[in-house]
Amino acid sequence: MLKPDATSAGNIGAITKMIEEAGFRIVAMKKTRLSAELAGKFYEVHKERGFYGELVAYMSSGAIVPMILEKDNAVEDFRTLIGATDPKKAAPGTIRALFAKSIDANAVHGSDSDANAEIEGSFFFSQFERF
Ligand code: GDP
Repeated sequence: MLKPDATSAGNIGAITKMIEEAGFRIVAMKKTRLSAELAGKFYEVHKERGFYGELVAYMSSGAIVPMILEKDNAVEDFRTLIGATDPKKAAPGTIRALFAKSIDANAVHGSDSDANAEIEGSFFFSQFERF
């Protein structure tokens, strides 16, 4: 998912290009905006963490671009491509090193397991076809 800082800065194209060039196939993609309620549901696993309120406010503050991506070893390879959560710690050349502004406005989200990718994909796309 491309986060509000990435969409508002006009980086949808540049980041999507990096994703495709890294070998990911885009199965589904759209531009949308989460209400605070839906952002809260999406990040429910972080409910007990101190930054939950900030995260929900941020993720509902602007447009996002969720995608379903396909690749062998996709979860791990995507996390390598995006870099560390904190852009100050993200490896050079990663999406977050290049485009993130701060730890919350960190340009992209990636699922942390195949099981969560299924859950998060279904959160945004009720149906999709593989073309
Ligand atoms: P990710 O898997 O790399 O996105 O990181 P996490 O799953 O640990 O955290 C989810 C999201 O919460 C991150 O992408 C950040 O946007 C946000 N986040 C994580 N840690 C912090 C923090 O210490 N402060 C704030 N404001 N946001 C944070």
